[in-house]
Amino acid sequence: MRAMVLHMPGAPLVQRDLPRPIPGPSQLLVRVEACAVCRTDLHVVDGELPDPELPLVPGHEIVGIVESAGEHVALPPVGQRVGIAWLGHACGTCRDCTGGHENLCPDARFTGYQLPGGYAEYTVVDAGFCFPIPEAYDAVAAAPLLCAGLIGHRTLAMAGDEATRIGIYGFGAAAHIIAQVLRHQGRQFLAFTRPGDQQAQAFARKLGAAWAGDATTLPDEPLDAALIFAPAGELVPQALRAVRPGGTVVCGGIHMSDIPSFPYSILWGERTIRSVANLTRADGRSFLELAPHVPVRTTTRTYALSAANDALDDLRHGRLDGAAVLVPGLG
Ligand SMILES: [Zn+2]
Ligand SMILES: [Zn+2]
Repeated sequence: MRAMVLHMPGAPLVQRDLPRPIPGPSQLLVRVEACAVCRTDLHVVDGELPDPELPLVPGHEIVGIVESAGEHVALPPVGQRVGIAWLGHACGTCRDCTGGHENLCPDARFTGYQLPGGYAEYTVVDAGFCFPIPEAYDAVAAAPLLCAGLIGHRTLAMAGDEATRIGIYGFGAAAHIIAQVLRHQGRQFLAFTRPGDQQAQAFARKLGAAWAGDATTLPDEPLDAALIFAPAGELVPQALRAVRPGGTVVCGGIHMSDIPSFPYSILWGERTIRSVANLTRADGRSFLELAPHVPVRTTTRTYALSAANDALDDLRHGRLDGAAVLVPGLG
C-alpha cells in the first residue's frame, strides 16, 4: 500500500510502498477514504512533540471502510464506514480510565503518533476505538469532525454552558466547526485572528461572527470565555485581558509556544486558565451525534495522498479556509 512516512522530524514525509497491515485479534483493517490534516500532525512532523514512533504514518482524522476484522471482533461489520480519532488506546483499568478521564490515561496511545495513522491507503485500529460516521456526511466532509470537531467541542465544553459571549483565538479547522455549534446554540462569538489575516476574518464573518479582527485588539465588551486554538503562547495573557471576572481561557491545542509572564491583576477576579488534553470516546460519540443536528458543514480542500507535504505546508502558512483532507483515491 502507498503511505506517506515520517522518518525524521523536521524533514518532509516520504512516499513509501509498505505491506498492508494485518489486524490483530481485537483490531479492524480499515481502507482509508479520507484523512484530514490536523495542526497536531504539523507539530509531530516539525518535531515539536517528543518521541513519535518512527518511522511513522501520521494522521488521526481518518474515515474509512472496514475491510476485515480480527477473530475477537463482532462489531462494526465489514463494509461499515468508521472514523478513527487521536485516542487509539487506553488501559481501561487505571484511576483515570475508570473515573471517566481516559484522555489522561498514562498508558494512552495516540493515532498517527505512537500508532499508525491515516496518511496511507490502509490502517488498523482497535475495534473499541472507532466511531460510526453519521449518514449525512461523506468521507471527506466527516474527516475534520474527528479532531477539529471533537477537540473543539471538548474545548467549548470547558468554557461552561453559562458563557454566552465567546472569543475564538485562531480561526482554522476547529474554530470553523465550533462557530457553527455556537450559532446553533444561540451564543455569540467573536473571532480573533493573526493580525491582518483578512481572509480568516471574512471566513469568520461568513460563519456568523459578531465581530472579527486582529488578536491584538481587545473587545469593546468583555468576553465570558475565550477558546485558544492557535499555538501562540502570547495569546494567553491577551485572552485573559479580554475575559470578564470569573471567565475562563481554554487552551485547545496540544502544543503552544511559551506563555510570556503577565501581571497577576489580569488573572485576579477568579479568572481561570486551563488546557484540554486529547479526548474521550464519550466526547466522540456525543459530538458525532450532535453534528448532523446543527448541522455542522465542514469546509475542506482535498489533496492526493502523495501531496501530503503540500497540505501540511498550506496549513503551516495559514493558506486554508477550514480543513485540508487527504484522499488516497486521488493518487
Ligand atoms: Zn488508563
Ligand atoms: Zn488533531
